Amino acid sequence: MKQFVSLLLAALLFLSLGACGQKATDDDAVRLVGQYKVVLNDNERKDTYPYVLRTENSAWYLAAADIESMGEEAFYKGLEDILSCAEADMADARMALTGRIWEDVPPVEIRTDFCGKAEISQDAGAYYNGLANMIKLFHSWDTAKFALLHEYVHYLTIHCAEKKTRHYFYIETVAEYVSKFICENRMIRSMDFSHADQPQLKALAEIWSDFDQVKYRNACLSESDAFARGLYDERPYSCVGQYMTVRKADKRLPDHLYELSYAEADSMALYLIGRDGEEKYLDNWDVVDEDKLAGLYGFTVEELLVAWSAWNAEQCEKLGLRMELPQG
Ligand SMILES: [Zn+2]
Repeated sequence: MKQFVSLLLAALLFLSLGACGQKATDDDAVRLVGQYKVVLNDNERKDTYPYVLRTENSAWYLAAADIESMGEEAFYKGLEDILSCAEADMADARMALTGRIWEDVPPVEIRTDFCGKAEISQDAGAYYNGLANMIKLFHSWDTAKFALLHEYVHYLTIHCAEKKTRHYFYIETVAEYVSKFICENRMIRSMDFSHADQPQLKALAEIWSDFDQVKYRNACLSESDAFARGLYDERPYSCVGQYMTVRKADKRLPDHLYELSYAEADSMALYLIGRDGEEKYLDNWDVVDEDKLAGLYGFTVEELLVAWSAWNAEQCEKLGLRMELPQG
């Protein structure tokens, strides 16, 4: 198995203005996309995003540059395609978090940025900006399909909750857990990898072309095991703390939970959930101090990392998930 690639799309967290729920009349419609109307954007930044499409759960701001570079028909075909899954996926995520988020979740603002105007798009498939309270989509509709539900969970747990996720470990692992282990995630399942002409998608196809939860869990375990055994020594990876770092041969376990790769953090979340249940894991998502988080499970942070790593190795051994060590 090749390097686990969720880090390629490690969804970066930044930071709020809610989308407004303006109703379009038939006269406003520039065109129809499925059952939805594209209307002229009369809000801010209309030069960049001249059009907007509103659904029950979302307001999509459509960049002129993206429509131009992709071609109008292809752009709107991709939009119609993602919309056929996105609404149901978002409803699933809200359902999964019932009681932990607001009962009435306002539509999320989504902007396309396929032309890569934002530097951040080099690393992320999409990102939720908590300050501006909106999701940006990068690269293509397919990449958007991969990343959108994860980002939507960020919106739910950072913006639409009284008790918010605050530590990077929780911010990222709750988004991963809900979008990939609880929800069906129709968007990922409907990705077409067969004519993926982007390197990002090619790398993803290895794990995601036949998406299912067990395969994903195993990929996280195996990837974590590879870190522990030195396969990734000195290879830069993006950690859940939202920066690039490396693991070193003389120190294969990090000092902090935010230094874990996405695969490792996901494995750690699965370990905690397996140990004391999902409720406890989710109930404490507003923990800021990781010593306190480890303490909830009877550990120091160092002990928790050691215990998790041993558990992960044991799982890999048992399930036959070990990657080959390079020769020589
Ligand atoms: Zn994220």
